[in-house]
Amino acid sequence: MSTTPQCADCGKDMEKGFVPDNTFLGTLQTGWHPGDPEAESRTLFGMQLKNRTETIHVDESGTRKIMTYRCPTCGLLRSYAE
Ligand SMILES: [Zn+2]
Repeated sequence: MSTTPQCADCGKDMEKGFVPDNTFLGTLQTGWHPGDPEAESRTLFGMQLKNRTETIHVDESGTRKIMTYRCPTCGLLRSYAE
């Protein structure tokens, strides 16, 4: 994004940033993925795992990094998949 977006409520210039995604591997930048989320089938030694927190299959080719802008006055967040 080349121009700074302005807050829809205040009309102020918004501050560029991102929403950190904390994982057990470290902190990642949140991404955007096209389409509906599809649950990933997980097996261990041929047995189907019943996972409480279902993981999602991710096709990296269509994903985009998300940049999030914040209004310094009211705190409104606005995200763009760049
Ligand atoms: Zn605002």
